[in-house]
Amino acid sequence: MKSIYLDHAATCPTDPKVVEAMLPYFSDHYGNPSSIYSLSRTTRNAIENARTILASAIGADPKEIVFTSGGSESDNFAIKGIAHALKDKGNHIITSQIEHHAVLYTCKFLEKNGYDVTYVPVDEHGTIKLDELEKAIRPDTILITVMHANNEIGTIQPIRQIGEIAKKHGIKFHTDAVQTFGHIPVNANDLNVDLLSISAHKFYGPKGVGALYIRKGTKITPQSHGGDQERRRRASTENVPGIVGLGKAVEIATESMADEADRQTKLRNDFIKAILEKIPDSRLNGHPVDRLPNNINISFEGIEGESILLNLDMYGIAASTGSACSSSSLEPSHVLLSIGLTHELAHGSVRFSLGKHTTREELDRVVDILPGIIQKLRAMSPLYNK
Ligand SMILES: *Cc1c(COP(=O)(O)O)cnc(C)c1O
Repeated sequence: MKSIYLDHAATCPTDPKVVEAMLPYFSDHYGNPSSIYSLSRTTRNAIENARTILASAIGADPKEIVFTSGGSESDNFAIKGIAHALKDKGNHIITSQIEHHAVLYTCKFLEKNGYDVTYVPVDEHGTIKLDELEKAIRPDTILITVMHANNEIGTIQPIRQIGEIAKKHGIKFHTDAVQTFGHIPVNANDLNVDLLSISAHKFYGPKGVGALYIRKGTKITPQSHGGDQERRRRASTENVPGIVGLGKAVEIATESMADEADRQTKLRNDFIKAILEKIPDSRLNGHPVDRLPNNINISFEGIEGESILLNLDMYGIAASTGSACSSSSLEPSHVLLSIGLTHELAHGSVRFSLGKHTTREELDRVVDILPGIIQKLRAMSPLYNK
């Protein structure tokens, strides 16, 4: 039985062309980029090449890019770095209720350390309430951080408009673009952002490498002290193979992005339509239109998402109940609760996230198998009595 991988929002397989580009940078070109001999020039050039590729993809200057260990570090760096750098100006931060834990828990940490955070609510589709966001702004607000698209329900936020509001009030604006970069257009100027996080493994690059875009002139305090790497913004010998892989992944993603987004949007819409038609008491979570091309999140009344996943796994189908990070906890997803789902319905939700290798045949197979699984589980469920 061939397995069907529908969890690309959690991670993607590394593109073989990315691996090929990385390989020479382990044992052949191993020089420390900070040294002065020619062995080091090769690795230094490779890093700067990747930086230029990424900068050009998001409409930035290479100097505005800092490589990190991934999306989580980029989010932590952006938020803590601004909070510290601007603490004389104020201690208030605005974010949304549906951020990734890398943002949410960073904000919670700052709350324990003297900062004040407002968590702006979202509507039933998961779109942030712009009027409430603007109302939350205070004279001591130093940062707004709102994700570009949500990793669980796929809703794309009006980042450009939020950026305009932030600009009008002279407040720094960060977006977590980990789910969008490489999949839909991400341009720092179009989006009006000062800081932007990305992660390579979410667009077929290697795990453990990412980047933070920091607009020129933005005051930010480093979160890692030591060497002078990354223009003194992040100490640590650079992850050269990882950075090279990130650059290659950006190149590949940029070439195929528009076609792939169209293809996945069609597959996504047909899948949603088929599942909602075939399975009673099911509903789509997230925005019907303004959503990631690859994201499908559906709630099934009266059953547990985990049981659905275990049954799908028996057919070799890999999906998720939402965030990989919360899958080990019993608390339902904060995102699904924020869009108004009951605890019970939030527990009965499954996320299918498509990728560039996902075929119509694979999705047709899931559409064939899933109704039987849901019916079987509901027949055994004390929660479902229709
Ligand atoms: C995956 C993800 C992260 C974390 O990225 P890592 O590289 O795994 O640390 C942060 N934000 C969002 C929206 C994500 O989907």
